[in-house]
Amino acid sequence: MDTDLAPGLGLVTKSHWCYDIQAKTIKCLAPAEWGGDCQKSRQSPVDITASKTQLDPNLGQFSFSCYDKKLSRTVENNGHTVKVTLGNESRIAGGGLAGRYQATQFHLHWSKELDQGSEHSLNGERFAMEMHIVHEKEKGTSSSKEEGQDKIAVLAFLVKAGDQKNEAFQPLVNALSSISLPGMNTTVEISLKDLLPEEGKLRHYYRYFGSLTTPTCDETVVWTVFPEPIQLHREQILAFSEQLYYDNGKLKMTDNVRPLQDLGKRSVFRSGSPGQLVPLPLPTLLVCVLSCLMAGFPW
Ligand SMILES: [Zn+2]
Repeated sequence: MDTDLAPGLGLVTKSHWCYDIQAKTIKCLAPAEWGGDCQKSRQSPVDITASKTQLDPNLGQFSFSCYDKKLSRTVENNGHTVKVTLGNESRIAGGGLAGRYQATQFHLHWSKELDQGSEHSLNGERFAMEMHIVHEKEKGTSSSKEEGQDKIAVLAFLVKAGDQKNEAFQPLVNALSSISLPGMNTTVEISLKDLLPEEGKLRHYYRYFGSLTTPTCDETVVWTVFPEPIQLHREQILAFSEQLYYDNGKLKMTDNVRPLQDLGKRSVFRSGSPGQLVPLPLPTLLVCVLSCLMAGFPW
């Protein structure tokens, strides 16, 4: 994931961080040299081996609020990925999370090789892309004992290549030609819900504690990885590698994927099998009200 905690910093610093593919042609810090917390032991992404995961009955259904609002959002090339900024109107709760979280942005990772573009892998298998919806914990909603390790909740969706066009993603694909270079931005009208697999298929997911997958790799992320993939047409996926650049038109943006990290002593948990309903505790039920209305009226 990419949180861009210091926007623009990487573009002006000589020794800025980059992906392996960039380090082949320019002087920059490749993943093995990333600073911050990046060389610590609770890092992301990881391979998830289904047979080694532990069933956790507390990992119930997610509650999504304001995920269905179709709003105009800013989409930018930030030099590492395509990032769509969200207006804090969308929220999640439930899903075994100790609190309520606001969605702040989403972005993607990809490769021109359709089996190399995801950051997480499932049973050793990588996918064409991975989408990260980044959420920050709302103040005062936490019941967590391990404060700090779950400051950020990322929902990770794997993307598979198919032969059907995914209409929900098309506005984003169309926008790519307007943001080919770092620093460029435009707007897209997008509903988060339309981008995701149908809600019934999101009851099955994996959970572990890890880090941001870009510097400074803070170990503050509670990860949710959904095995049900999003399907995009092959051409829609390849458009990202073809139309975007890391720099001023020399190196195409592709393989913006951090290598797998050791799971170490950590466990990966899995939710109940699909179809198994776990009732939501009442306080986590969300209503999409004022913030949604405000977000819908730009004045
Ligand atoms: Zn990411």
